[in-house]
Amino acid sequence: MNFKNIIELIIRNNELFMERTGADFFTEYQEKQSPVMTLVTCSDSRVQSEAIFDNAFNLIFTIRNIGNQIYSNEGSVDYGVRHLKTPILMILAHTDCGAVKAFQAGYANELGSIKAELDHLIPSLNTEAKNITSSILENLDYQVKVALEKYDDLINDNKLLIVGALYDFKNEFKGGYGNVIIQSLNGVKA
Ligand SMILES: [Zn+2]
Repeated sequence: MNFKNIIELIIRNNELFMERTGADFFTEYQEKQSPVMTLVTCSDSRVQSEAIFDNAFNLIFTIRNIGNQIYSNEGSVDYGVRHLKTPILMILAHTDCGAVKAFQAGYANELGSIKAELDHLIPSLNTEAKNITSSILENLDYQVKVALEKYDDLINDNKLLIVGALYDFKNEFKGGYGNVIIQSLNGVKA
């Protein structure tokens, strides 16, 4: 697709969206948002919120970055959890994560900005050759651990549940294509 085609597609899709929704759809959301979940997931274009909610409008406060990391966007995660007080913080990893693959392959030649984000993966992963999916799950466990430490006060007061999950759009775990597999609840393996 060239520039022109993409812009036309955006405009056309927006027109269809406005026709489909109508003004009433937006009325109750004019002044405030009330999401039920803070979602930290990967920027990967194959990861979509439709995997967990048919219509995620007003339900998910979303933070996306390469490798579904807390520290890359810590302020945004804090905003969802502490200001918006979402009862759930979900960290959603996914199969075939390019960030984890890049980390494992060695990323010394990457742009400084990309290196700075991948550096956050150092505590969770090492570069010894191993299965990418197991590294993706190791990173997920690490991100959950970071969240458990950051928000232990809310967890102890039973105000926050931290969900670690994996979006398996490659059906590596044979639960079906697009299966979201809950891995842990407040760090306890599901
Ligand atoms: Zn990814």
